[in-house]
Amino acid sequence: MKIIMLGAPGAGKGTQAKKIAEKYQIPHISTGDIFRANIKDGTELGKKAKTYMDQGLLVPDELVCDLVVDRVKQDDCRNGYILDGFPRTIPQAESLDAALGQMGESLDFAINVDVPDEHIVNRMSGRRACVGCGATYHTVYAPTKKEGVCDVCGAELILRDDDKPETVQKRLSVYHDQTQPLIDYYRGKGILKDVDGTKDMDVVFQAITDILGA
Ligand code: ADP
Ligand code: ADP
Ligand code: ZN
Repeated sequence: MKIIMLGAPGAGKGTQAKKIAEKYQIPHISTGDIFRANIKDGTELGKKAKTYMDQGLLVPDELVCDLVVDRVKQDDCRNGYILDGFPRTIPQAESLDAALGQMGESLDFAINVDVPDEHIVNRMSGRRACVGCGATYHTVYAPTKKEGVCDVCGAELILRDDDKPETVQKRLSVYHDQTQPLIDYYRGKGILKDVDGTKDMDVVFQAITDILGA
């Protein structure tokens, strides 16, 4: 099963993608996580990506597309995968389609996690990320057992720089300009499925599994 997740920053794509990956036993591929790992490791890609991410801008397509296309060709992706945070522009979607087409494959579902802008700032200001393992929490909606400490690995939690309100506004406008058009792109291909992302996490997950099937 090949799935992509669409939705505004903070809509809950990562939260749901992790649960889907676990249930269906497919890799969860998050371009944001890949960039953050590269930044942490100090790679050239990380240095380039950071200058865009810090400003709430998208990393240029040419730094993203090959990376994802190479990743989905790896062995662990033969039974499918879930892409979280890619594609984010029409050229990215076209390049993915072209690469899949060459392999005789195509996407099965584009899940659009729909959350209006007015909920987003609230979601993002409460989001906390683990500096150790990258796990995501929310101060109100998904708190850790012990405040400020990751349940999984015990490392410290931070508010991502790009989750500060000024950057969130920029990311939202970038989303509307560059990523939202993908909704119609995939609707046109007949694989778009909308879910109401304002509901509780478990309710959203149930709606997604209803779409994907047992
Ligand atoms: P969120 O989950 O809040 O939407 P991500 O972790 O997916 O954020 O992405 C963080 C940042 O990484 C984005 O704001 C963007 O700068 C960069 N990024 C991630 N994926 C892509 C992509 N497919 N194309 C361009 N930039 C990307
Ligand atoms: P995205 O990957 O789309 O940027 P995340 O999955 O990181 O979004 O979720 C953003 C924040 O909102 C996180 O702090 C997460 O714990 C929280 N969150 C995710 N889904 C829900 C939900 N259905 N209700 C309330 N909070 C949520
Ligand atoms: Zn952790």
